[in-house]
Amino acid sequence: MSDVTLEQLRVQIDKIDDQLLDLINERGLIVQKISDLKKEKGVDPYDPVRERAILDKIAERNNGPFDTGRVQHIFKEILKTALSLQEEDRRKALLVSRKRKNENTVVTIKGQRIGDGEQRLIAGPCSVESYEQTASVAQQVKNHGIKFLRGGAFKPRTSPYDFQGLGVEGLKILKRIADEYDLAVISEIVSPHDIELAEDYLDVIQIGARNMQNFELLKAAGQSKKPVLLKRGLSATIDEFMKAAEYILYSGNENIILCERGIRTFERATRNTLDISAVPILKQETHLPVFVDVTHSTGRRDLLIPTAKAALAIGADGVMVEVHPDPSIALSDTEQQMDFAQFDEFIKALKPSGILTNA
Ligand code: PEP
Ligand code: MN
Repeated sequence: MSDVTLEQLRVQIDKIDDQLLDLINERGLIVQKISDLKKEKGVDPYDPVRERAILDKIAERNNGPFDTGRVQHIFKEILKTALSLQEEDRRKALLVSRKRKNENTVVTIKGQRIGDGEQRLIAGPCSVESYEQTASVAQQVKNHGIKFLRGGAFKPRTSPYDFQGLGVEGLKILKRIADEYDLAVISEIVSPHDIELAEDYLDVIQIGARNMQNFELLKAAGQSKKPVLLKRGLSATIDEFMKAAEYILYSGNENIILCERGIRTFERATRNTLDISAVPILKQETHLPVFVDVTHSTGRRDLLIPTAKAALAIGADGVMVEVHPDPSIALSDTEQQMDFAQFDEFIKALKPSGILTNA
């Protein structure tokens, strides 16, 4: 075969590729129009019966040289590609998405703003164990100029034999401390029936990782007037995380703070794997503030400073950490809570270094 013929054949191939490309895109646009018509009628764009009919027709018409299975596989990919266009459209159209609202949502809590470009800290014990224990942490938090105190009253523990939290008693302690120390308090609520009750005691309702897809809880939090800090589920994709936030917003509450807290992977060096790239993705795709919980994502005290720095450097609106007067006797998360000296070090590493824009 001469070089000239090879060149000619390549020209033919390039021409066919151009045509294929144009046809695939043209096909995609027609599928989009079909989807719009179906949407108007309230019909799901994906129609498996129609897909089967298309693949059967291809089998009938295929004259080779490629075998039918292979050609059908190529067409299945083309069908999937057209549908992915719809999925992207749907995602962009979510209420939490930047497409629906371009400016950042700023959540105001007791006069403090979250998501306004300044970075904040939320600190406090894993669990509210007593008034004295929580008050001593509140004092440290206040000394550092931090305005947000966290503390678990309802603790969703892996084992039923572990400390389950003080419940409503814990919420009462938080409320008392919020008033005495002029702090905003954040605590997890695990049941939709407790949302109304929580409003009397809390400034922010936390929905924990294990409850990210508790849809009744999300809907109840969506009907609340209190801001919601929503944690990413243990094995939730970013898309699922955004859709969980969508439940809250759709139900009427726009004051949502997203919190990346690590996801479960094969890696055992840390308790969870901190998905740091989730922060810029969520900032790009949604208009909501994004926090990073470095305590639960790492489960390691020695990693709190570097991961907090990474979170702030990558654009998080703030960081959450756990602090306890004596972590060795804490009723939960003894491994990763900081004592007061470590907390001082943590603050020193972030604040004077200028990495944190504000407490
Ligand atoms: C918590 O913040 O107290 C907690 C239990 O975290 P997570 O839901 O992320 O595990
Ligand atoms: Mn904890």
